Amino acid sequence: MIKSPPVSSRETVLLVQDQSEQSARMRAELESVGFGVDVCDTGAIALAFVAEQHPDLILLDMHLPDRSGREILQRLKVDPTLSGIPVILLTGAFREVQDIVGNLKQGADDYLCKPVETGELVARIRNSLRARQTQRELGRMVRLLHTVNQVGNQLTGILDLKNLLDSAVQMINETFAYPYVHVFLRQTNTLVLAAAAGPTAADLLIDSPRLTLDGNTLAAACVRAGRLRMFTPADNGYAPLAQLPDVRSAVAAPLRSAGEITGALEIASPDELAFSSNDSLVLETLADLIGVAVHNSRTYQDMESLATLDPLTGLLNRRTILAQLMAEWARSQRRLRAVALVSIDIDGFKSLNDTHGHMVGDKAMQAVASGIQSTLRREDAAGRLGGDEFLVILPETDQAGAVKAAGRLRDLCHSLVLESDAGAIVPVTISLGVVSYPETRAAEPTDLLRAVDRALYRAKAAGRNQVAE
Ligand code: GH3
Ligand code: MG
Repeated sequence: MIKSPPVSSRETVLLVQDQSEQSARMRAELESVGFGVDVCDTGAIALAFVAEQHPDLILLDMHLPDRSGREILQRLKVDPTLSGIPVILLTGAFREVQDIVGNLKQGADDYLCKPVETGELVARIRNSLRARQTQRELGRMVRLLHTVNQVGNQLTGILDLKNLLDSAVQMINETFAYPYVHVFLRQTNTLVLAAAAGPTAADLLIDSPRLTLDGNTLAAACVRAGRLRMFTPADNGYAPLAQLPDVRSAVAAPLRSAGEITGALEIASPDELAFSSNDSLVLETLADLIGVAVHNSRTYQDMESLATLDPLTGLLNRRTILAQLMAEWARSQRRLRAVALVSIDIDGFKSLNDTHGHMVGDKAMQAVASGIQSTLRREDAAGRLGGDEFLVILPETDQAGAVKAAGRLRDLCHSLVLESDAGAIVPVTISLGVVSYPETRAAEPTDLLRAVDRALYRAKAAGRNQVAE
């Protein structure tokens, strides 16, 4: 978590000035409003004191017994560990304008003319301290955003969505020490936990919580509002995840891609008031970066499926299923494993189209494709070769196994009930050819393709709606 530096209860001012009635008066005035005051009456002592004690501000007289205030100023400003301490110069009433301009250029933050008016001293000191504080916060913010940017840069190279989100939550958890980090992705009216980091992340992901978009979870509130939302047990009706009852504070920022809210990035902690406005800024910036990365990843996946899938059926396209066949063939050669092919063609598809129209024809094609998909094992592959013809690759399957699988598919299609627009029942049957290697001898994959085509032809010739070997 981004901790603000501890605010010291008492700010300290070093007064570098001859001991005098005036310096005693200034000391008293500063102490009366709560500053801690030290006085050094020579430049040498002052330099040693500053190096040791790092006061919050230095009031530096231009005229010191051993050296000039300007020399002290120069020495302080060239030391990077001390140059951040604001210095206010004390000049005589008859000041030289040139001198003052030169000193301000050298890093003095302000100057005061002696004798210093009561009230003005404290006001000027507070002003300088405030300016320095703002500067420090800006410096911290720049460093913080630099880190955020580094995390973002590492994410832009990852195109696989799961890998991207897993890396994102992990990096955020480690880099910013947020105890829990969650990414939710929107799926119509629910938010699905897509990635999590934290002590119970593995269990949480197994549980895979789905949040309804109109529910009272913090993430849902954030996505609904399209803006940052915070949770504290005391002050609002939002809830963190039910699975994390120890959470006492949480913040969620929306993920955007192409102008739409696509999910939320959430951080949570068991501590109360764990997150500052800096955390909110970091979270929003990270959410923007992740939103873009999610968009890129999805666009890439869309492009990839356009290039590999048949748009009508969602099966692999011709080029891809044939490439799969080459790969499977190479594997079977290397490991001396069997591979079987099933070729499928819809029966009388031309007349189905002619009788019921192309729309019903397309529906029949999709129904057959999903039938094929539903009978496949994970390692099988199915593609549309073109027209009403499909090819299925069954790795490590012998002839008998492939014939059985083809028979199941034939039965499944035969039992399909498809309706035309006019309400007529449209029967759909398929013919299937089966070959397997090495039972069917082949020197290369095209030999197998030719053989499975011949088998399919035999199934058609034998009356259709059947499997042939
Ligand atoms: P067979 O039993 O001998 O296979 O007869 P068939 O009519 O199915 O003959 P064939 O397989 O040669 O015909 C394929 C027909 O599939 C030709 C074309 O009208 C139709 N077709 C090809 N692609 C599509 C498509 O994307 N959508 C639709 N609706 N029809 C298609
Ligand atoms: Mg056909």
